[in-house]
Amino acid sequence: MRAALFSEHGGPDVLRIEEVATPDPGAGEVRLQVAACALNHLDLWVRRGLPIKTTLPHIGGSDIAGIVDAIGPGVSGVREEERVVVNPSVSCGECEWCVRGEDPLCLKYHIIGEHTPGGLAEFVVVPAANLYRVPAGYPLETAAAAPLSFLTAWRGLVTRGRLVAGETVLITGASGGVASAAVCIARHLGARVFAVTTAEHVARVRALGADVVYDRAEVDYAREIWRDTEKRGADLIFDSVGEATWPSNVRAAARLGRIVVYGGTTGHRLETDARVLFWKQVDILGTTMSNRREFAQVMDLVFSGAFEPVVDVVWSLEQVREAHERLENGKQFGKIVLTP
Ligand code: ZN
Repeated sequence: MRAALFSEHGGPDVLRIEEVATPDPGAGEVRLQVAACALNHLDLWVRRGLPIKTTLPHIGGSDIAGIVDAIGPGVSGVREEERVVVNPSVSCGECEWCVRGEDPLCLKYHIIGEHTPGGLAEFVVVPAANLYRVPAGYPLETAAAAPLSFLTAWRGLVTRGRLVAGETVLITGASGGVASAAVCIARHLGARVFAVTTAEHVARVRALGADVVYDRAEVDYAREIWRDTEKRGADLIFDSVGEATWPSNVRAAARLGRIVVYGGTTGHRLETDARVLFWKQVDILGTTMSNRREFAQVMDLVFSGAFEPVVDVVWSLEQVREAHERLENGKQFGKIVLTP
């Protein structure tokens, strides 16, 4: 089969299209003919080898949709030719955290395409338990654009952040995959959505359903949201920018506010004045990925049309280098989808 792979860590130029052996499904596994695979920043980190080292050569790609092509021993409830999307979270099912249903905290947790071969190939083998059926007529390119970003945003806003209708939410870095999914989900939940982005993306973030969009270069958003909410602030702040936005996020939090952190692209040292925590009684919460229940909940909403993943471009697998460059340079709005 053809696959996009790299044999050493580095820049986009390490990516190559090569012929490799088509994998066979083992016990509990299924082989998919990949229809579409969307890129995430995770793919860039894995390619660079920082901070994630993987086995080489490696095939990336964690957001996969395709058609069931071969079924391994011991798999039931899956038929060949079925159209499916893949939950990228793999957990052991046995440790304390799996027993509690908290897959992303599993002691053996990993993500398909990170430490195992991913979907940037003609075929991929995944655990049968990770398949989720795509309704007839729903485009597989759009289905592939959904999992990682929507499941991360859903757990962050709903499970961890406890966001409810009528609350005010502030979403930073809003052109990013997870953040733009968060705008859609927050709006669906009936929250008042404030977003921060760059000038070129303001109109598109507004079109996703944000009520107020700040251009981060033009305004001090912590001051603006304070004014726009009659000195109340945001009930929930959803951020992966990290160090660069942290002081503003702490200022922007309402009394009893929650700040949900799902990454730290500009740095991981988040210095906080403890007085803010106890005077405003703010919660600082971390989140990553999702459990199976959350995955099913959010995919059902995606398939019902409650919100639609934004697809930036659909390119062929051969354009993988260009696709990595586009993501690396922040040129995209929505998901970059590759088709083999
Ligand atoms: Zn486990």
